[in-house]
Amino acid sequence: MNGLPSESQQVPGQRRVMIVTYGCQMNVFDSHRMAQVLLRDGYVETMEPAEADVIIFNTCSVRDKPEKKVLGSLSRLLPLKEIKPVLFGVAGCVAQQHGQALLDKVPYLDFVVGPDNIAQLPQIVADARHGSRTARADWMDRHNYDFIPLDPAVEPGPTAFLTIIKGCDNFCSYCVVPYVRGREVSKPLELTLREVGMLVDAGVSEVTLLGQNVNSWGRGLPGEPTFPDLLEAVSAVPGLKRLRFVTSHPADASDRLLGLFGHLPNLAEYLHLPLQAGSDDVLARMRRKYDSAQYLDRIRTVRRACPDIALSTDIIVGFPGETRQDFERTLAVVREVDYDLMYSFKYSPRPGTRAAGWVDDVPEAEKAARLAELQSMQDEITRRRMQRFLGRTEEVLVEGPSKSSRKGAAFEIMGRTRTNYIVNFCVDGATIPAPGELVQVRIDKILAHCLKGVPVG
Ligand code: SF4
Repeated sequence: MNGLPSESQQVPGQRRVMIVTYGCQMNVFDSHRMAQVLLRDGYVETMEPAEADVIIFNTCSVRDKPEKKVLGSLSRLLPLKEIKPVLFGVAGCVAQQHGQALLDKVPYLDFVVGPDNIAQLPQIVADARHGSRTARADWMDRHNYDFIPLDPAVEPGPTAFLTIIKGCDNFCSYCVVPYVRGREVSKPLELTLREVGMLVDAGVSEVTLLGQNVNSWGRGLPGEPTFPDLLEAVSAVPGLKRLRFVTSHPADASDRLLGLFGHLPNLAEYLHLPLQAGSDDVLARMRRKYDSAQYLDRIRTVRRACPDIALSTDIIVGFPGETRQDFERTLAVVREVDYDLMYSFKYSPRPGTRAAGWVDDVPEAEKAARLAELQSMQDEITRRRMQRFLGRTEEVLVEGPSKSSRKGAAFEIMGRTRTNYIVNFCVDGATIPAPGELVQVRIDKILAHCLKGVPVG
């Protein structure tokens, strides 16, 4: 995150906050909101623990062991407290899950703030500075939910995330999100359009609409608009070059939604559609509300609308009761879909979820072996799918210099295709494209994790 005033703008005595973000893009967005409210309160951001007056860990408990991780990080920073009065705070899922109990357990923690309490952060920090340790992790009333208004000053750069729905009502049996992020609340259409317009005016070229399940956006809003309604409206915001969204639930991916790919000119051809498992028995125990045939039907529908779309997914291996046969069904569906990218994980129980009460009966070594087998299959698929770009000219949205940006007299630029592949290409010093610019690049090399090419036209 780098949205707050830079070092050069800092004045002596100004307070500095460091926000460490774990987990998904939703958390990145929440960290921006925290930065935003503290910016208004006179803070500047730092990434140096030694400079910070406040250090906040924005945690995620969807996939790892977050409490252990955050407490480990905090204890490593503990010596700082002997040098200066730095405040430690925990936000996000762990804050919501443990609240006051976390404050009681960790004496050197100064405050705990849940995802619905970010607006109160300046007061919570001020109280902590005066010695009053606070845990605030209350849910906001979903019928009177107050989204923190976006401040484009903290959304710099060519791309931006924008949360359009928070929480989730699905209660998949393995997932902690409904418990730590609360029930679904959709951001009103007018507010979303205003914020996208603000981002574009601030120089953002690509907006990614975010939510645990963006497809159910609109439920509970007056007139019950649908996510395709929102996409069409956002797509029409003048000056918006690219539009993406994540994450979709297959059961809510309607024909109308999938038909917008290849139809809305600035909707990028990339869809993340979590499968989780290929076995219908496992899907039923996961409470995913679709079976493999229905999932594959969604894939065929989107590919009919947009044959070149890039698809990615999430898979959990070793869910309670998953047999070798179940796992082979996952391999079969993955092979059939031919994903561009996969995020895959070994199952581990999340406290409070329905599946946490079941026997975690797939041995750890078996989970690891299944994961390795799946990943090696996907690596091969990805390598093959990347070959389709060779010799093609792709529209690349420039994000900035590449990691190895200086190459002799030339600069190497990094950007992304509409299908979300990273592309590096060289330009001479006189023609460096600005972040956010669209450049046509002919792809002439396929590397392990990115494409390389030369700008044309
Ligand atoms: S749809 Fe299921 S997996 Fe996704 S956030 Fe909601 S409960 Fe969790």
